[in-house]
Amino acid sequence: MKQNESPADRAFRAEVRDWLQGNLSGEFAHARGLGGPGREHEAFEERLAWERHMAAAGWTCVGWPREHGGRGATVEQQVIFHEEYALAGGPARVNHIGENLLGPTIIAFGTDEQRARFLPPIVAARELWCQGYSEPNAGSDLANVQTRAELAGDHWLVDGQKVWTSLALEADWCFAVCRTEPGSSRHKGLSYLLVPMRQDGVDIRPIVQLTGTSEFNEVFFDGARTDAGNIVGAPGEGWRIAMATLGFERGVATLGQQVGFRREFEGVADLARRTGAIDDPLVRDRLTRSYMGLEIMRLNAVRTMAGVAAGAPGPESSISKLVWGTWHRELGELAMDVLGAAGLIADGAPGAGPDGGSAKAQPYDLNDWQRLFLFSRSDTIYAGSNEIQRNIIAERVLGLPREPAADRKARG
Ligand SMILES: Cc1cc2nc3c(=O)[nH]c(=O)nc-3n(C[C@H](O)[C@H](O)[C@H](O)COP(=O)(O)OP(=O)(O)OC[C@H]3O[C@@H](n4cnc5c(N)ncnc54)[C@H](O)[C@@H]3O)c2cc1C
Repeated sequence: MKQNESPADRAFRAEVRDWLQGNLSGEFAHARGLGGPGREHEAFEERLAWERHMAAAGWTCVGWPREHGGRGATVEQQVIFHEEYALAGGPARVNHIGENLLGPTIIAFGTDEQRARFLPPIVAARELWCQGYSEPNAGSDLANVQTRAELAGDHWLVDGQKVWTSLALEADWCFAVCRTEPGSSRHKGLSYLLVPMRQDGVDIRPIVQLTGTSEFNEVFFDGARTDAGNIVGAPGEGWRIAMATLGFERGVATLGQQVGFRREFEGVADLARRTGAIDDPLVRDRLTRSYMGLEIMRLNAVRTMAGVAAGAPGPESSISKLVWGTWHRELGELAMDVLGAAGLIADGAPGAGPDGGSAKAQPYDLNDWQRLFLFSRSDTIYAGSNEIQRNIIAERVLGLPREPAADRKARG
């Protein structure tokens, strides 16, 4: 995406690069490359310190308008920022859910009071967020949300269970879709509440994933409280707001990942050369297809950018999600085939957490390729599964007939 870069964008790229080079050094030199899929708990405190360091220099929330504490970067500049960040080996960000999902939602739909209360701590990385959508019976079928919230004087009381809640243990707040109109069903009667996580009414239980780590959790609300004003949009408007948040999730936030993907691809190609797997014509064929996939994703990203620049990302962003999720999962499979039998052996077994209990199990000692393979199984599920993306593309991009079910179940 570097061809045709305007002088202003070139200057912005140089500014980002200089700052990262100058600051991912000294006390933060060791932060390079920390965290990431399957390594979510790695050096969390150090990564948080780094994020606060970035915030102090004005490098968080770069795409937010200046009046809300951002840098007012254009879409192109946001992509430049993410590219340079990946090239510099910046550690995985700890508050991407606040910065990329909740923040833009509050900017678009929140009240002035909510903007004043919630945006500055996201910009400063002082408050971390998690996303409380999925439930045991509401994933793709999000409209089946059963978690209830009831207004009791000056606060809401929340009861129910969320699941697969990423980074809930680290989060200070959760944006939760709750049913606030008793007897309502499906998309009606839902509200978008902001719930503090650190209170007695919230119980968080980590779920151990294939990688041995626990990026996501079960979250139980048992009389959890939040102020009456902590609702985005009006009561009953939760579906509309929740869908807008998903639009942000599938939009700009994912555009910067191209650099990381290219680096992973080059790593697998290099591995194939070193192991001799490259002599296998089938492996060569898959590498070639994978490379073509990279180029297709690059072009898709440009198209998505155009949609984002014209307003909110359209349903075309589902094409990007479908393509990158599938591509990344296949790259993980290719990496395993290139590794051969060696890919089956972990360097160490999982053990109990430091407290000896189950709070945070120690991860398996996996190499990068094993981690890529295991974590990328989830790429075609989270942020809307492949099947759901295909439904959206079929119906809203291609204009094909809707799914036959009278009461549609697909999220989005
Ligand atoms: C790593 C990871 C992190 C996550 N983080 C979060 C988070 O932070 N917060 C949160 O709220 N959720 C999170 N999720 C949950 C995620 O959004 C759901 O897993 C996803 O929406 C799918 O829902 P489900 O798991 O209930 O599967 P289901 O909806 O039960 O789907 C099961 C299968 O049926 C298919 N299917 C379902 N409906 C249809 C349909 N109408 N047409 C065709 N096929 C269909 C699906 O594609 C899938 O293959 C996370 C998931 C993962 C893997």
